[in-house]
Amino acid sequence: MSFEDNIRKVIPYVPGEQPVGKVIKLNTNENPYPPSPKVIQALKEYDVDELRKYPDIYGGELRDELAEVYKVDKDEVFVGVGSDDVLSVAFLTFFNGTKPILFPDITYSFYDVWADLYRIPYKTISLNDDFRIDKEDYITDNGGIVIPNPNAPTGALKSVEDLEYIISNNPDSVVIIDEAYIDFGGRSVLPLIRKYDNLLVVQTFSKSRCMAGVRIGMAFGDKKLIKYMNDVKFSINSYTMNRLTVAAGAAMLKDEEYFKETCKKVIDTRERVKKELKELGFDFPDSSSNFIFATHKTLAAKDIFEAAKKKDIYVRWWNKPRIDNYLRISIGTDEEMDSFIDFLRGYINGDI
Ligand code: PMP
Repeated sequence: MSFEDNIRKVIPYVPGEQPVGKVIKLNTNENPYPPSPKVIQALKEYDVDELRKYPDIYGGELRDELAEVYKVDKDEVFVGVGSDDVLSVAFLTFFNGTKPILFPDITYSFYDVWADLYRIPYKTISLNDDFRIDKEDYITDNGGIVIPNPNAPTGALKSVEDLEYIISNNPDSVVIIDEAYIDFGGRSVLPLIRKYDNLLVVQTFSKSRCMAGVRIGMAFGDKKLIKYMNDVKFSINSYTMNRLTVAAGAAMLKDEEYFKETCKKVIDTRERVKKELKELGFDFPDSSSNFIFATHKTLAAKDIFEAAKKKDIYVRWWNKPRIDNYLRISIGTDEEMDSFIDFLRGYINGDI
């Protein structure tokens, strides 16, 4: 017997590369636009003396602003260090039974990592051949359900009606809808939290709110669900939301016009890039997110991925069953996407 036997050994989640230097970065679904000028102003004017004190354990004015903007009560909001933190707390809080939790086979690759870490039994449900979720697959005995909408990395959106069907038919399970990308063209299930006390809606500031580097995520749900999550969070670390993060996040929420404008810019660029990719021989599930999950009719995804990297253009490729001939291409600025499309043209013509 050695100490090695008692170590919790895990296979960690592997995030996309964060290369240094000047590259075209289309590999981790960040927003290509900066946060609102209101955030810059709030940080400039921040009273540094405040940093002597511990922050509010609930997220202070960030939670207040979230409640106001999303028209919910404060005790229906949970804030965390990115939605990864929120989801991790939710898994630990709600999935404590013996029945397997369910999520799609092709989805955010952190779900199985948390399940393994917390020893939660799980079963993955295959997406259809066209990479879509079939709602009937989730009407089966389970210990909980996690569905990202739009799904990642496919970008495919499910309707609120389909999700409500899953939520209403699973009253004995907590159903988590991970809406990391919902602002890029989807309809949120948020209004359903008052109708279903088993629904938790998770969102993030990392994509549509241009602040991946600040690390803010939030969950909305019935007061009871939120209280259970806070109980678990306060049993690990009460002070996760630092004061600067709270100030920056609250300021971002005070500029809804900027938020809507940047979402529109990303959506417009995405729609144009869809057309160009089609013309170049790519195929993809229709995306409602800030990325496109594309496969080429004749060229191997891995080869394109490697050739692009040599030109300092980073996209995402996974060496995994069913998706190893796909590239996930985040939507950058128009200029960045022009460079990527130019690269593809050259690559397809054999000039690269
Ligand atoms: N959910 C999904 C589906 C994601 O793609 C991501 C981004 N990696 C996250 C959650 C977590 O994002 P963050 O922790 O930056 O909020």
